[in-house]
Amino acid sequence: MTSFDPPLAAADPEIAALIRKEEEKERDTIRLIPSENYASRAVLEATGSLLCNKYSEGYAKKRYYEGQEVIDEVEELAKSRVATLFGAEHVNVQPYSGSPANLAVYLAFCKPGDTVMGLGLPAGGHLTHGHTVSITGMFFKSVPYGVRRDDHRIDLDLVRKLALEHRPKLLWAGTTAYPRALDWAAFRGIADEVGAIFAADIAHISGLVLAGAHASPVGVADVVTSTTHKTFRGPRGGMIMCKKEHAAAIDKAVFPGLQGGPHNHATAGIAVAAKEASTPEFKAYAHAVVANAKTLADALQERGFSLVTGGTDNHLVLVDLTSKGVTGKVGAQAMARAGLVANYNSVPFDPRKPFDPSGVRLGTPAITSRGMGPDEMRRIAAWMAEVVAAPGDDATLARIARDVAALCERFPAPGVTV
Ligand SMILES: *Cc1c(COP(=O)(O)O)cnc(C)c1O
Repeated sequence: MTSFDPPLAAADPEIAALIRKEEEKERDTIRLIPSENYASRAVLEATGSLLCNKYSEGYAKKRYYEGQEVIDEVEELAKSRVATLFGAEHVNVQPYSGSPANLAVYLAFCKPGDTVMGLGLPAGGHLTHGHTVSITGMFFKSVPYGVRRDDHRIDLDLVRKLALEHRPKLLWAGTTAYPRALDWAAFRGIADEVGAIFAADIAHISGLVLAGAHASPVGVADVVTSTTHKTFRGPRGGMIMCKKEHAAAIDKAVFPGLQGGPHNHATAGIAVAAKEASTPEFKAYAHAVVANAKTLADALQERGFSLVTGGTDNHLVLVDLTSKGVTGKVGAQAMARAGLVANYNSVPFDPRKPFDPSGVRLGTPAITSRGMGPDEMRRIAAWMAEVVAAPGDDATLARIARDVAALCERFPAPGVTV
């Protein structure tokens, strides 16, 4: 180590200390945010590599800069591994994240002002599926669909009725706060009836999909987008899979349509995550994520919690805290003080405002990456019951936080070194 190139701890002790502090938090708390996970040490190493130094606008063998021999191999490896995992005809791993991946779909298939349909945000959809505060709701005519009032499941009759009435150019299926499986074939049928492009967004569930723990839309939808950092357990990033006929349009939309140089360090991290995801261990992991969510849901219901749709088919549980006499925000804040980190979330037809809604959203991807199982899920449900019964009781919350940290010590987290 030369003096002009010191390690982080010497070069920037402030940031080094903050990283260490975050590492300790991720080590000592039960992380229940369904979009979060623990990337492996190998993924972190690839993502922290000097591949971030290289500019590589374009695609393999068609770059605008010289010296791409290594980068081309990295990107081609990432693409072929992802294609094999999902059985995809074409893959693009350059989107900077999930939202830019979705924007590329709009750019590939729509003109400003075109009609698009997606699940409304209050029903569990994503901002980029046409919500009013998103560019996708401002530049396109958005017709959101929702869930049924009685069982809170996606109302496919309404989707079809709205599609026939509004003839969307683009139909999205994909969710961010919806605990049930999606019926890809039903969306395909509706898209075909009205001549729409069908885009499936598997940002949350791509790890479950590749492992067969949720049905796959690949080969059913025209285009499939995903993040790479949720259940896929890679670095922060995005990817798009599509049929061959759409490959040129998608590639052109990502670059030069939306982005400049790809994040080659992230591409390397995606390649490593894809290799990890091809193992029997990952398959077992993905199925355990769903099994744990079901156990957590059952244990919560036994303790009198009310769940949106009455349970789960995937990695997340949406709890309506109204019956417990606390709001989602009060509940989530008290949980965080007890070492149980979740996010407050609207429930369908929520009478409360989004910044202080009625629910909390819980997910099992991160805790399952630590190897937690049914016993720990029941323990978490018991702690949650204690927390919502006494959200202002500092002594109780502090005691639970200590017990949580002790439990976490028995389940080392991938990527955590402290
Ligand atoms: C998380 C998510 C995204 C966006 O991903 P970012 O990486 O946060 O931009 C898109 N769609 C869905 C359904 C998501 O859950």
